[in-house]
Amino acid sequence: MQRTERSIQRKISKARFSQLKTLEMFDFVFQPEIDEKHIKELSHLAFIERAENVIFLGPPGVGKTHLATALGIKACEAKKRVLFLSASQLADELLIAYSTKMLASKLTMLCNLDLLIIDELGYLPFSKEAGNLFFQLVARRYEKGSIIITSNKSFQHWGDIFAGDNTLAAAIIDRLLHHSHLFQISGKSYRVKDKFKKIP
Ligand code: ADP
Ligand code: MG
Repeated sequence: MQRTERSIQRKISKARFSQLKTLEMFDFVFQPEIDEKHIKELSHLAFIERAENVIFLGPPGVGKTHLATALGIKACEAKKRVLFLSASQLADELLIAYSTKMLASKLTMLCNLDLLIIDELGYLPFSKEAGNLFFQLVARRYEKGSIIITSNKSFQHWGDIFAGDNTLAAAIIDRLLHHSHLFQISGKSYRVKDKFKKIP
């Protein structure tokens, strides 16, 4: 294996993706609502240089995690430092860091990444403490480092994620959205696509 290839593989394994899905594997014809040109433009990674965020909202199975991962893999190929975490994993890690007095170094580590991918925000609600720590992280990365976030909940329901705290949710949304690329996908689930095919 070439040296550069090895270093890319190392970046990919350090990123801890849940699945290795690439942009080339994504079928844009199946999900026409997604602006393919916009995603391709993002894959050139200028959004990382500009510390902009990418937000994928939509129901299960529409490709949010796939696209977030695919952009993350592109970033690894460009030797960026990437970390992929589910929102609940992130909440657990922040709470542990806080309770062991390691929060400052945890936040520094998370802020030193070129790209932080937070998957599945909204599947599990955050405690009040986790919500506050999450806000600190988003505020620290604001205008300094990109976040890609996926969620099954539209913004008006984000208060429910953060223990009913609509003010905190608004403060988080405000910072995430300010410099961002928003994809709201309402299309069909790819997971069940074949289930509805007519039997010949
Ligand atoms: P979500 O995160 O929105 O729930 P995923 O990204 O996990 O959905 O997609 C579910 C599965 O379907 C994954 O295996 C993913 O690779 C695949 N998939 C989703 N959309 C597409 C698509 N348009 N083209 C190819 N595969 C897709
Ligand atoms: Mg997903």
